[in-house]
Amino acid sequence: MMAQAEKKVLIVEDNDHWRKLLAMVIERCGYQVIQATNGLEGVERAIEAIPDLILMDLGLPKMSGAEATAILKATPATKHIPVVIQTAYTVVENAVRAGAAEILNKPIELSEIQRVLAKYLPLNPAAAASPHASARTNAAA
Ligand code: MN
Repeated sequence: MMAQAEKKVLIVEDNDHWRKLLAMVIERCGYQVIQATNGLEGVERAIEAIPDLILMDLGLPKMSGAEATAILKATPATKHIPVVIQTAYTVVENAVRAGAAEILNKPIELSEIQRVLAKYLPLNPAAAASPHASARTNAAA
């Protein structure tokens, strides 16, 4: 659990209920969570904390999620961080152009969040590369 706990997920979401639910689920999966409630704050938090993954809403106060993503992708310190967009919007070209790794359509099942965590933040990349990984992991546990 130690190495896993060091991974950080930044949630940029202005809907308090959904942001808190996401934070709870992601923390329970063993990750550190950082939260921002508008696009500008999202950019600031990303630059100061350098998270391993960003979950970005599109409709945000102060700066849209697409603008924030474009800034993060143009910033050397943050351009490597995958940005997964979560939105109810159906027009997402700006986010795709800005360099979003993936678009999730709200409402989002929590199992979908777990899939995204597993995809972008594998718990043990070295073990995952081996066909015998699960057997070894079980033995180690
Ligand atoms: Mn929103």
